[in-house]
Amino acid sequence: MKAFAYLTSKNEPHIGIETGQGCLNFTQIWRYFKEIKNFPNAPDLPFLQLMVELNYFSQETIEQVIAVVEEYRDLKDLRITDPIHFQTPVARPTKIICLGRNYRAHAAEFNNTVPEAPMFFAKVPSSLLPHQGAVRIIDGIGRVDHELELAVIIGKRGSGIAESAAMEYVAGYTIANDITAREMQRADQAKGRPWTLSKGMDTFCPLGPYLVPADALQEPHNLEMKLTVNGKVRQSGNTGAMVFQIPALIAHISKYMTLEPGDVLLTGTPEGVAPIVPGDTVACTIDGLGTLLHSVVQAA
Ligand code: MG
Repeated sequence: MKAFAYLTSKNEPHIGIETGQGCLNFTQIWRYFKEIKNFPNAPDLPFLQLMVELNYFSQETIEQVIAVVEEYRDLKDLRITDPIHFQTPVARPTKIICLGRNYRAHAAEFNNTVPEAPMFFAKVPSSLLPHQGAVRIIDGIGRVDHELELAVIIGKRGSGIAESAAMEYVAGYTIANDITAREMQRADQAKGRPWTLSKGMDTFCPLGPYLVPADALQEPHNLEMKLTVNGKVRQSGNTGAMVFQIPALIAHISKYMTLEPGDVLLTGTPEGVAPIVPGDTVACTIDGLGTLLHSVVQAA
């Protein structure tokens, strides 16, 4: 099962669910569920991030809600038939925390060593770009690279989280492309400056298309991942090759920062990182999570 955030033909934010039988309008299904169960005061669910924040986001809950409604009415007219206008799975995370050099072969391709402890940096939330969006490359910034990554969406607030409890804080998984202005990053590194600009420009964090609930994906550390540019494979790896796995990352970062529901954790990229240029079409695929597509355009 996969969930997604989308805009209806009337530009209303909604939640969709992809099931074996097509895509369903879950925002409307939830309204019927509230009527049937006589929960008039339960909140409306137009946003996937709200569903995560309310701790309603799981395959089990979604299936139960759909099953209750299906007993009372046909779901046929709740299928989404229009082309889907995707939004990012979360729209307003408090932070996007990223990992540097979390795959050995990627660290090696840039002549870097693997750090002894996780190396964190952040992207700003305004860099988010939905599925089928366009990464905009500002004139004069030089080489810009793709970095395919598994993204973890946090499901509940926590700090000082123990590694053994860390997976309870995961709401689900999606795909990210950690777009990087490489020449700017290297110039900043050489001067001891932070990476904020080279990692955080508008459109530099394509995310989506789906949010797959944690209880629908039992093993996030054995997923094949592949990135193509104009149909040619550039990156091909497996999440099993992460140096620091998700529980260790959550434990480390939550020592210093409180994680909030909807926060995004990018877990690092495998080898094969290379430039993208205006006119390119990029496809990022991870087993069970679908394919995140975006174009690349020149910006003034
Ligand atoms: Mg990265």
